[in-house]
Amino acid sequence: MESEATQHFSHPHPLNPYDEAQESDGIRCSGCELVTLGSLFGCESCNYYLHEKCLNVGRWMEHPAHPNHPLTLLPVPTYPSGSFLCNACREDGSSFSLSCAHCEFDLHVQCASLPQTVVHEAHPHPLSLTFSYSNPKLSHAESIAFSCDVCGEDVDLQGWLYLCVGCDFGDHLSCATSEARPPPPPPPANEPTSAVEEMHRLTKEMQEFQLAAARCQLQMNLANALASTMRRF
Ligand SMILES: [Zn+2]
Ligand SMILES: [Zn+2]
Ligand SMILES: [Zn+2]
Ligand SMILES: [Zn+2]
Ligand SMILES: [Zn+2]
Ligand SMILES: [Zn+2]
Repeated sequence: MESEATQHFSHPHPLNPYDEAQESDGIRCSGCELVTLGSLFGCESCNYYLHEKCLNVGRWMEHPAHPNHPLTLLPVPTYPSGSFLCNACREDGSSFSLSCAHCEFDLHVQCASLPQTVVHEAHPHPLSLTFSYSNPKLSHAESIAFSCDVCGEDVDLQGWLYLCVGCDFGDHLSCATSEARPPPPPPPANEPTSAVEEMHRLTKEMQEFQLAAARCQLQMNLANALASTMRRF
């Protein structure tokens, strides 16, 4: 499939398709400011690149976190500081934002498209995207501090979090959506094993297990065959 060069309102030159950017290329998306992986569009001479996903963000959207006004896609923040504070993750951004200038409500494009629910290995129930945290079981003073149940750091309750309301289990947006977190470092007393060695060991164990299972199956087949042979006599 051949994609064509495309024009985007954020850049004066046509953007050419590139496929399969690698993390090692270190190209940052000028929309979401994250390293680009997979297919992207870019203007090489300006070093301006966009994820396909960021290129296709609509010019405006309705968002349940800001129901009164539509959010407009701004290629660069219009604030004098040149940056915006994301109302979702509470981090600064200086590229694309979905913005209600009237209310100074701004979202990173990636924060604006967070899934409504996620499943995290640290908790058995799905976690819902929560725009404002409140726990009726706690007093106001208790419910203004919340530590992330995944990383243990404070969650800024001016922003959003992922929450299992029933269990009051919550975590940072970034903690909830980061797959494959690195395992905790092994205790220093043990012989040092690198993650790669550990992976090899696990793979080997798995292969041995599969081999044993296959052997077991074979023996069972033999036994069955023997049994049916015996029955015939
Ligand atoms: Zn992007
Ligand atoms: Zn250009
Ligand atoms: Zn954000
Ligand atoms: Zn507004
Ligand atoms: Zn966290
Ligand atoms: Zn739960």
